[in-house]
Amino acid sequence: MALLKNETTILKNFVNGKWVDSTALEASEVINPATGQLLAKVPISTKEDLEEAVSSAKAAFTKWKAIPVPKRARILFKYHTLLTEHHEELAKLIVEENGKAYKEAFGEVQRGIECVEFACGAPTLMMGESLSGIAEEIDSEMFRFPLGVVGGITPFNFPMMVPLWMFPLAIACGNTFVLKPSERTPILANKLAELFTQAGAPSGVLNIVHGAHDVVNGLIEHRDVAAVSFVGSQPVAKYVYERAAANGKRVQALSGAKNHHIVMEDADMAKAVQHIISSTFGSAGQRCMACSAVVVVGDNEKFVEELKKKADELVMGNGMDEEVLLTPVIRKEHREKVLGYIQKGLEEGASLIRDGRHDMDDNTEGSFLGATIFDHVTPEMTIAREELFAPVLSLLRAKDLDEGLEYIRKSRFGNGATIYTKDASAVRKFREEADAGMLGVNVGVPATMAFFPFSGWKDSFYGDLHVNGKDGVNFYTKKKMITSRFDY
Ligand code: NAD
Repeated sequence: MALLKNETTILKNFVNGKWVDSTALEASEVINPATGQLLAKVPISTKEDLEEAVSSAKAAFTKWKAIPVPKRARILFKYHTLLTEHHEELAKLIVEENGKAYKEAFGEVQRGIECVEFACGAPTLMMGESLSGIAEEIDSEMFRFPLGVVGGITPFNFPMMVPLWMFPLAIACGNTFVLKPSERTPILANKLAELFTQAGAPSGVLNIVHGAHDVVNGLIEHRDVAAVSFVGSQPVAKYVYERAAANGKRVQALSGAKNHHIVMEDADMAKAVQHIISSTFGSAGQRCMACSAVVVVGDNEKFVEELKKKADELVMGNGMDEEVLLTPVIRKEHREKVLGYIQKGLEEGASLIRDGRHDMDDNTEGSFLGATIFDHVTPEMTIAREELFAPVLSLLRAKDLDEGLEYIRKSRFGNGATIYTKDASAVRKFREEADAGMLGVNVGVPATMAFFPFSGWKDSFYGDLHVNGKDGVNFYTKKKMITSRFDY
């Protein structure tokens, strides 16, 4: 039986189909951000632990790639059933270790299951191309082959969905996988591996090595790792992209964000406010597609008042309570960093129209921060430029759509952007000119579904092929061309 969590024991790694102790001398605490309760300890695994996992994945690859694609897909169908059966349990685990609201966690599990659903289509997705008669009596065919061992490095904010962006599709395509989950939310990853084994995945096909920098550096340097999928903060994404590419690996590195929402004067104000509140403050602003900057076009004071009123009404607390939307940030250290940004916002001249610091309670162990809103923020200010990853919103004022689009262009990030309007020509202009890869029209979180690429731009993504959709299949496969002459 897999060890999932135990306050006195350290989480195990999963290598070659077995739960094994890490050789680590160090461990990090996994705590419930809402209560401060210690849930487990996670080993800061060593390069030796990684070595074991990579060699297990390398050995498994030889057999796994030879399994017919429909048979591989059948394991994913079984996995889909098991994940669906465990939907509520998985959602509760997410709430415990990540802190987000149960409803959000339930939705995250659903998004993860959809990735498995997509990977079940591997026989169709992996089809090649052919042309009969490229010359007289000569045909050409293209086949797709897996790459080998793939490494995955994931963040704390989607402990289920992000690993499932990666390993189901990679494995369905015939690769084997070594996952390094976030050390702040590692418990769910072990449950994912346990269920994958129950679904019939052979030993060594999926391996988990818990830890931090050493495991990451080991993966991006290892000669037997063919490709690396990374999701996390911008400096680390850039580092992983550069280092792994320098080591000859295929890399996709999804990074930080600053998502602007433009509110036009003709928008349905009640709906715009509702979407912005949920996008900004849901999951405590710790979503890579969260709204963190609103561009208010024209003199729309009514919108600002309404937004502040709804922010005042938000219920903050433990994500297991049904009425709660505003949950804690991941750790108190992260909250300290955010408090520094709030101070910086004040020093640089933004007006704080809702101060979430007043909602903090020193007597709780939870890392809560109330909804915070700055008005009259300019694109040059630190709080407008950097990703805060917190329930802190910046309002920028613009005279028209062109100025709003200019703010988006100025941002180094380009994950998502949204417009709220009923005007078709404004929508078209926004679609053509907004300098970001995932756009929303009257949609608060325009995150894409598993069958489309998750297509961040600029410093929100390093690489060529995104996760999910056909990009995902192209990332996890290499093409082989065969040219055949038949006039012999
Ligand atoms: P993080 O960068 O701190 O950690 C991500 C992973 O990298 C973890 O597994 C961590 O152990 C490892 N890591 C951290 N620092 C490292 C270092 N110096 N060297 C080597 N490895 C290191 O990110 P996080 O705080 O866990 O996650 C939040 C970030 O992820 C946000 O910036 C968010 O925007 C981003 N994110 C982006 C997307 C996207 O689709 N673009 C999706 C989810 C999250």
